[in-house]
Amino acid sequence: MPYGKKINKHSILQSIWFIGIFFSLNLNFIHADWDCYSNIVHQNQESISYTSRELEKAVIRAKVWKIHREDGVFEMTENAIENGLEKLVNSFKEYGILVNFLEPENIYSDSLYYFAYNGRPFELMQSHSVDSLINFYYLPNINYTNGTLTGYGQAFNTPGNELFVAGNECKYVSDQLVCYDLADTFIPIHELGHCLSLLHTHSTANGSEHVIRTIQDSLCSMNCSYSGDLLCDTDASLSIKNDVIYDGIDCTYIPIETDECGYIYEPQVENFMSYTHFECGTAFTEEQVSQMFSTLENHNILSQTVINLGDMNDDLVINILDILIMVNVILSNDSISDLDLWLGDLNNDIIVDIIDIILLVNTIMDI
Ligand SMILES: [Zn+2]
Repeated sequence: MPYGKKINKHSILQSIWFIGIFFSLNLNFIHADWDCYSNIVHQNQESISYTSRELEKAVIRAKVWKIHREDGVFEMTENAIENGLEKLVNSFKEYGILVNFLEPENIYSDSLYYFAYNGRPFELMQSHSVDSLINFYYLPNINYTNGTLTGYGQAFNTPGNELFVAGNECKYVSDQLVCYDLADTFIPIHELGHCLSLLHTHSTANGSEHVIRTIQDSLCSMNCSYSGDLLCDTDASLSIKNDVIYDGIDCTYIPIETDECGYIYEPQVENFMSYTHFECGTAFTEEQVSQMFSTLENHNILSQTVINLGDMNDDLVINILDILIMVNVILSNDSISDLDLWLGDLNNDIIVDIIDIILLVNTIMDI
């Protein structure tokens, strides 16, 4: 065989190899995506009664667990977790829920760090979970070399007290590709929403939700209270993954799609429980908030994560010690912490003062 031909053959093979690599990289890139899974524990219309909310505000305990490699490696962008948690705390505060994080802890496990290669041994993660806390687990990457996902979020149970956030994803902001650690997006908020019993706005677990919100309609029935996410102030929606563009200012939903009745979907692109653009998830609806409160008040596991108002030292009893702490808080020259303010401000006038002490004394004496 002439030498020249050999070279040609070699270069053809090389070209095919390069084309193959190019396409596989491209395909991975095109499909690079995040996804979310939550195991819905028996949720239907009867199990969700968002009218039963009684508390005006709630304080819940939480803890971050950072999964490290056994040699100490932790390939997470510096402060990504902390920045994301700051967004989470501020967002939930707006809705009357203070998430109080205890000191974070590290878990050293190669099996968990490379969970996608190791058969997802999530039990190694869950064995650390504490019942009286919402347990947030963070993983830097998910290493799906041949897969289509780069980022992943999961609430182990809906409702439940364990969630994890892993990996990253790149999204366009205007014409710039920006890469995000999922930890530093609204995804931890989304997963905590699942823990507190919220479903995706595009959920079909209870059948497809119709767009219409009027009872009288000759074409179609209003089914929002028993279909989709079971809530009526979240608009009917298909999954809006990759359907919302963000130009640096506005979030815009692109597709024009209709439900089975022929009505055009107009999903809330700002809803935390959707698959919207990372820069666009900013809000829960009133019914979503009521449902989260109802879960915190009534669910056997979630109610254990709540610190009772007035229990200043979180020792599960309200007694003279709490009064002493409250007096110290009032007399202190330091600015009051969020935790002391939320637990001590019993009459919700945004200050801890003598009136709150009187209310606490009344509580102790059961007046
Ligand atoms: Zn989700």
